[in-house]
Parts: sequence; structure tokens; C-alpha cells
Amino acid sequence: MDLTHRPRRLRQDRVRGLVSETSLEPSDLIAPVFVDATTDERIPIESMPGHERVPVDESVARVREVLETGVEAVMIFGIPESKDPEGTRAWAEDGVVQAATRRITAETDAYVITDVCLCEYTDHGHCGPLEEELRGDDEHGTPCDHDRDATMTVDNDATLESLDRIAVSHAEAGADMIAPSGMMDGMVAAIRGALDRDGYEHVPIMSYAAKYESAFYGPFRDAADGAPSFGNRRHYQMDPANAREALREVRLDAEQGADVLMIKPALPYLDIVAEIRREFDHPVAAYNVSGEYAMLHAAAEKGWLELDEVALESLVSIKRAGADLILTYFAEEVANRLSADR
Ligand SMILES: [Zn+2]
Repeated sequence: MDLTHRPRRLRQDRVRGLVSETSLEPSDLIAPVFVDATTDERIPIESMPGHERVPVDESVARVREVLETGVEAVMIFGIPESKDPEGTRAWAEDGVVQAATRRITAETDAYVITDVCLCEYTDHGHCGPLEEELRGDDEHGTPCDHDRDATMTVDNDATLESLDRIAVSHAEAGADMIAPSGMMDGMVAAIRGALDRDGYEHVPIMSYAAKYESAFYGPFRDAADGAPSFGNRRHYQMDPANAREALREVRLDAEQGADVLMIKPALPYLDIVAEIRREFDHPVAAYNVSGEYAMLHAAAEKGWLELDEVALESLVSIKRAGADLILTYFAEEVANRLSADR
């Protein structure tokens, strides 16, 4: 038996750490925080155990809980007190994200990233104001049938004007980073231009550059109250079948000035994360979405999986695939565990 190559030599306890290729730190993680202008008290999110919507008054306390675990960054999502077809509360000076951001940045050292989109602010739940879809088979562009699902879509260029206002209102409130999530064509250029015009050239943009139209977002819709009232988002979010298109989408955002490139969801799209890592020099972020979180919790509740172990392994695999930053609902639990292991 001539076995020159024995990879097991490096799997012995005292050498494993030395040859470990991937390490996960609390500072790699971003914790999503939901701030709800319609409530005076914390409301547990049923499909995302351990997470709550908090009122603006509790936003600082909520962020302090995150910071105590060693996680340094939060992503703020807002649920407004009212909705309308245009989503005007999204850029209100006294809007929910703006109010929470002012308090959090004044009272904590958290790095505050704000979600910039319209779906939580429009009464129809889509990521921008609607227009009738123009169809090639009708020279006047009027829909042939009157099925609303099939004929209404988000007005891309009108949405860009709203994103301009939202991004500036978040920067004014003190946001450290702006994260547009609506998958509108030209959104990064519109926001970069608006921020630079108004004196916020130092505020980076983390673009949801390749965001897929995924069924793994289900539990988030409970959390953010952002399910579309009709139709779906496949006219603006990406087809899960497409990988080359992700490169094209990401390249466009990079050219428009995105500072960080995000892929969403994470686990079912690790091939995309790896590909974007290879092709671009930018920091890459991955969003370990609500469905990825909920399914592990559900299996753990049944006693089928060990939650701590699968949570950690999930995040390590996302990092190994090439993500530098991970948005995850496991941020606090995993950061606590990483700190305890030291
Ligand atoms: Zn949206």
C-alpha cells in the first residue's frame, strides 16, 4: 500500500484551524430590522421566529440588541402608516425609515443601510407606480384584453424619479449606505446622480444587482407587508433559470457606480455568487432570505435538524461561495455563537 497522499493528515484537530479556507466573523453580517409605523408595540413575525416588527420608538433598542451580539450593520426596512398608488410615504421627511434612521444614527454606532424600494409603500404592493403594459401586437399600445394581471406593469422610468427622492431622503436622515432593491433598469445611475447632486457623494450604494423572482421570499411578505395585490414581480425581477443574464445585470449596475453587488436569494443561487465573485472586483453581498431562514427553523422545530449547526453551515457556505457580506436573519444567533467559540 503506497499512499503518499493522505488528505486526512490535515483534518486532525490541532491543524484544522490552520488550514481552514473560510472564516466567518460577526462583522461580515448584516441584520435586517423591520420598523413599523402602524404599531405601538413589538409584533412577532410568525413565519420568522425570533424576529419582530418594532415601532419607531423601539428602533434604537432593537438595534442595540443587534450590536450586543457583535454585528455592526443593520438593514432598515419600513412599514409606513399609509399606502397610496405612488408610494409617496417612501420619501416623506417624517417617513418611517427616515425617522428610525435619524434616531439610530444619533444614538448608536450601528452602520445603517436602508432599503430603497416602493413595494412596502404602494397600495398595490409593486415596486413602483404602474402603467399599462405596452404590447408589440397592438400599434396603439393599448392592451388587447382587460385582465389587469396581464396588462399592468411597473413604470420603470417614473420609478427612477421616486428612487431619486427616496435615496436622498434616507441620506438626509443619516443613512450610511443606500440599498436599492427594486430591479429597475438604470436605478443605480439614478440614485448615484441624485446623491452626488445633493452632496452625498460619500454615501455608497449596495445594489440588489441580481435579484431573482423567488418563492423563497414568502415569509418576508409577512414581515414587511409587501405582497403584491395582483400579479407577481417577474417583469422586473430575474428568472431563476438565468445565470448569464445575472452577469449582464450586475455589469450594468457596476458600470452605473454600484459600490457593493448583491445577489438575492443566497443558498439556491450560490453558483451566481461564485460567478460574480470571479468576474468582479467589488465586494459581493448575498441575501440569505426569509425562506432560507424559515425552512431551517421549521425543520428544527420538528427535531429534524440542529438549528445552530445548519445556520452556521449555511452562512459559511455563502461566504465560501464568494460573498464578503451576508444579510441574514441568523445574524444575531450566529454572531453570538461565533463570539462564544472564541
Ligand atoms: Zn420592492
